[in-house]
Amino acid sequence: MSKEQLECSFCGRNKAETNLLIAGLDAHICDRCIEQAHGIVLEDGKEEESNISKADLTLKKPKAIKDFLDQYIIGQEFTKKVMSVAVYNHYKRLLQPASNDDIEIQKSNILMVGQTGTGKTLIAKTIAKMLNVPLAIVDATVLTEAGYVGEDVESILTRLLQAADYNLEKAQTGIVFIDEIDKIARKSDNPSITRDVSGEGVQQGLLKLLEGTVVNVPPKGGRKHPDQKFIEVNTENILFIAGGAFDGIDKVIRKRLNMQAVGFSASMSNDLVAEKDNLLQYIIPKDIKDFGMIPEIIGRLPVLTHMNPLDAFTLRAILTEPKNAIIKQYEKLFEMDDIKFTITEGALDYIVGKAIEYKLGARGLRSLCEAIFTDAMFDMPGGDIKEFKVTKHYAESKLDKSGIQKLKAVS
Ligand code: ADP
Repeated sequence: MSKEQLECSFCGRNKAETNLLIAGLDAHICDRCIEQAHGIVLEDGKEEESNISKADLTLKKPKAIKDFLDQYIIGQEFTKKVMSVAVYNHYKRLLQPASNDDIEIQKSNILMVGQTGTGKTLIAKTIAKMLNVPLAIVDATVLTEAGYVGEDVESILTRLLQAADYNLEKAQTGIVFIDEIDKIARKSDNPSITRDVSGEGVQQGLLKLLEGTVVNVPPKGGRKHPDQKFIEVNTENILFIAGGAFDGIDKVIRKRLNMQAVGFSASMSNDLVAEKDNLLQYIIPKDIKDFGMIPEIIGRLPVLTHMNPLDAFTLRAILTEPKNAIIKQYEKLFEMDDIKFTITEGALDYIVGKAIEYKLGARGLRSLCEAIFTDAMFDMPGGDIKEFKVTKHYAESKLDKSGIQKLKAVS
């Protein structure tokens, strides 16, 4: 065959019609066919990936799940234990081989009740990380009934698809964390019906997602792309974790426990003061109903757990103990500039004291640290001083100069 007569063995184009023609033993392939073949290889790879995604799911036993959570979350022993069992059961249900007995394991969606900043999101994130499944974090306050301004409940699944890089099978075994679920409670004592646009109607909308159904999901979300094709997402094996502060639910619990707030506190011993501060530990599903959640939703979130408020002891531990504790992060940051960072016990206690005084909770620990360390992080890199020791006195002087006290006024 002369050079001019050479052609692609796949599409038949002759050499002049191609940009490139690669020769094999007995055949030739052109640049276009190479690209097409490459596309087929990629597609095939994707399919295989999604087929093995179930097998990918490494299911740890509840004790191992709890051990993992312990590395990142301080305290909250009850919740960590309950969640470990719920997550284990959920994924066991998902991985169970089809059997012919009639026992169908129900979903173990979870409801976490606790003040903001006590670690609800952190627990959901840590579980997703451990299981290596996609996680979508959504805020219930932006959800509205279809047709109203805001986001449809389906948008939750758009987020999950995005978190799973649009791998449908992965998304269908993922985790959705719905924050501020208490904000869609029905306000029974509030005559304004406008609020219920995003109240009971949204609860109804959520119901079908929680119990397991096939939903048409706009892959790019929103109503901005009306022409987009829908993706069918089955929510049967998605684990839903809902969290909320449920401000004021302590009154509901107290009422149920039949405690007269005044009479009770008058005769309290110290132990009971602590108990009174943490009435959440007695929470039962009925309290959630009395707060304004519809019974059907409560039924679809069968695992109910509470978060304890963070005391000084816990805050102190959060600063230094978790695997990626804030102080460990600063140590690492300074180390990258060859600076040895140390902090005294007194300084740590001082930071915790301020977080409590300013009512900033665990989230405030980070802002306080930033306020104290920023000058050093600005001045020291590239300088001659290779040691940075933070004492209580140093922390105090930096905090006094910073504007963080302003936060105190807001709280
Ligand atoms: P929530 O979802 O309850 O409002 P988050 O999980 O967002 O609270 O917590 C805020 C931050 O506070 C977390 O990123 C984490 O750094 C810290 N934190 C809160 N509670 C704990 C805890 N129990 N253990 C470790 N860190 C915590």
